Amino acid sequence: MNAHPRNELADIARRLRIAVEIQGILREERTRSAPAALRRLRAEPADVGAARVRPAARIVESGRTAASSERSSGPAGAPAAASAPSPAARVVAPWEGDPARADSLGGLHDLYAACERCALGKTRKNFVFGVGAADARVMFVGEAPGRDEDLQGEPFVGAAGQLLNKILAAIEFAREDVYIANILKCRPPGNRDPRPEEIASCEPILRRQIELIRPVVLCTLGAFAARTMLGVTSGISRLRGRVHDYRGIPLVATYHPAALLRNPAWKRPTWEDVQLLRREYDARVGGAGGSS
Ligand code: SF4
Repeated sequence: MNAHPRNELADIARRLRIAVEIQGILREERTRSAPAALRRLRAEPADVGAARVRPAARIVESGRTAASSERSSGPAGAPAAASAPSPAARVVAPWEGDPARADSLGGLHDLYAACERCALGKTRKNFVFGVGAADARVMFVGEAPGRDEDLQGEPFVGAAGQLLNKILAAIEFAREDVYIANILKCRPPGNRDPRPEEIASCEPILRRQIELIRPVVLCTLGAFAARTMLGVTSGISRLRGRVHDYRGIPLVATYHPAALLRNPAWKRPTWEDVQLLRREYDARVGGAGGSS
């Protein structure tokens, strides 16, 4: 059965009223909530930006790159400028600073244990700082770690080290009572000669080692160590057999034990040199038989 036309018209009018009311309500609601929505929309980029800037700031502080923060502050659409970190923001590795900062032998070791002041820091297996008593009265200085020393992280541990121990015993010193180090703390690849830039980088570490240990007598082993410490170019045969001065400390130069293994004829002059060393020690410390 069809509905009455008057009823239909009344129903349509009622629906239209309801629709108009609903539209009005929606309009009011939009008007009321728009500022809050706008505020939210404006706030969001700032919050997101802040979250992004913080990690970038850390990167700047760690000295890697400032590109992220520059992108956020640069003109819109402009390509990010590549920029080196400012010197103030760059992180300085412990080994980049002056060795004089260290006030103990252990502290000096820790500052340079990961040293890369020269290229040898990238090829060594172990940093070979030195071995012995921190208050040793006698200090021996060689050239640089060899293969065995690089593997074990200790100077003079191979065949040359065994011979050095015998030489020490012959003049009544125990290895534990003296201090043994090298000019270079890292092995030159293939045992090649140290390069001038490597010596310049590493020698300040040795100098500080000597300042902290304060030995009463020094002994260089081999021509290279003698020349470096004395700042001369003479051969070992001209430098051995007498007492030199290294910053107020008497220094005796003799052959490197590895050279003695190759040339037994040098054992005799070496014996004379270490006896001279022992006499220098006795003159300053007093008496034979003691070692430190
Ligand atoms: S040789 Fe000396 S200066 Fe070079 S990396 Fe080793 S410790 Fe540093």
